Amino acid sequence: MQTPDQRRQSSCAHPSRARGSHALATRSKGASFKALPFGPALRVQQGRELQQRIQLYFKGDLDLKVTDNRSVIITVKRDPKHKQYHVRLHHLFVDAPAEIVRALALYIAVNEAQASRLLNHYIDANENQIRGVRPHRPIKISTTGRAHDLAEIFHKLNQRYFGDRLRSRITWGRNAGRGQSRRSVRLGSFTLEENLIRIHPGLDQGWIPAAYLEWIVYHEMLHAVHPMHVVNGRRRFHTRAFAEAEQRFELHAEVHAWEQRNLPALLRI
Ligand SMILES: [Zn+2]
Repeated sequence: MQTPDQRRQSSCAHPSRARGSHALATRSKGASFKALPFGPALRVQQGRELQQRIQLYFKGDLDLKVTDNRSVIITVKRDPKHKQYHVRLHHLFVDAPAEIVRALALYIAVNEAQASRLLNHYIDANENQIRGVRPHRPIKISTTGRAHDLAEIFHKLNQRYFGDRLRSRITWGRNAGRGQSRRSVRLGSFTLEENLIRIHPGLDQGWIPAAYLEWIVYHEMLHAVHPMHVVNGRRRFHTRAFAEAEQRFELHAEVHAWEQRNLPALLRI
């Protein structure tokens, strides 16, 4: 969860509209993308190879580029009349197995639903490549805070809203960058590959109402049950179904109003 910064707050119906995890704020300018691990020449070569593999499964003129841009997973421009297809693919597909390459071909050619589902699973499973995170970082779980207990909150919400069926883990995040004034703050996040909710440690303070913290946790719990979708090559975390589920939070209006009033303080936690 990220918050919109103050300039944007009136135009942003809900802070979680930001892409990805729920965060308060705009992406600061010059959003920090990781340095490219490989030179562009390698991506050109990888693009050519992937193009040849995909082309085994369909006829047409395929123009394919492999990209490092984290927000572009798949984009396809189709001109079926002239059998021309312009495609940009995230490099996570470079080493994809044959069934995924075949699904790419079907998705590119006709946007086939089954292929699309298969690709979504593959993207989920390779999320760490998109984020540029190493997959096997050891995770330290801590739920007991000074003011709030995340395990307690998770348990309560799980019973009330999820039939006690959610099996995600939850932890306070690390202390990086505490107490600075900033344009954005990520209050919570959920990673599918770790099945882990992380909550910003700055929320473990007495002036943060329990209901607000519950709301942040609830939002991240919803990510565990609402799969990410790829729409027009962009990852969509906050779908309409997701927004509807958010409305089920009992104090939805109250916590939203509290957030609006306390945005400057939240940006400094
Ligand atoms: Zn979110």
